[in-house]
Amino acid sequence: AAVSGAPALEIRDLAFGYSAHTPVLHNLTLTVPRHALVALVGRSGSGKSTAFALVNRFYQPWSGSIRIDGRELADLAGPQGRGALPAWRSRIGWVEQDCPVLHGTLRENLLYGAPDAPEAELWRAVDLAGLQGTVDRLPDGLDTEVGERGSRLSGGERQRVAIARAVLPRPRLLLMDEPTAHLDPASESALTTSLGRLRRECALLVIAHRMSTVQAADSVVLLDGGRTLASGTYHEL
Ligand code: ATP
Ligand code: MG
Repeated sequence: AAVSGAPALEIRDLAFGYSAHTPVLHNLTLTVPRHALVALVGRSGSGKSTAFALVNRFYQPWSGSIRIDGRELADLAGPQGRGALPAWRSRIGWVEQDCPVLHGTLRENLLYGAPDAPEAELWRAVDLAGLQGTVDRLPDGLDTEVGERGSRLSGGERQRVAIARAVLPRPRLLLMDEPTAHLDPASESALTTSLGRLRRECALLVIAHRMSTVQAADSVVLLDGGRTLASGTYHEL
């Protein structure tokens, strides 16, 4: 359970580098309140995806703290410290920057991280991600082969598949690394609509490359050289 009133994600004074003496994050601080949409922006190489890797615990921070629902990783340990990492990761959904879609059917793609998800949960995820229209259009619906690397899907559709896959296990926090590739206007507006639906379900931290996402966000965190340079609403910044 969550610590009462705690934000979904709280990062304090986080420092990290991939190799010793070369920090990538110097002093990252940000908060994602529950059910909020926070946009993380900053130029290429400023450390945005690195911040996500640390929240996912792919690496150990040098210093600083990361709390989800008010808890540190160690707080989630079961008896003898077992199970902290799976418990941590089960709270997080992650949409990767390049939205990898695997060979196989759409259904297999969606069930990848949650093979036992019931049918009703699958359709809930499809709906949340705005993927229903795509499923309706495909000849065999969810059982359509999407082709090698998802080649039968557009960039926007691949992104929606990645979102549906990430929200299927009902994460409390969704991390989304927006693709830098161009999205057509219809896909961009579908994404904005989907973000509006998703924030009723979980907290969202989105690495934003699109102005429409930044404008839809409750707050914007500007990262520069691994530091939080500014944060506030779109209009304040
Ligand atoms: P972009 O907008 O281009 O995606 P970003 O803000 O996500 O950029 P990061 O990917 O976090 O930036 O990279 C920050 C710095 O860390 C860069 O200098 C990058 O070269 C370096 N870096 C990223 N990943 C690794 C890695 N796995 N090993 C070593 N260095 C890395
Ligand atoms: Mg990145």
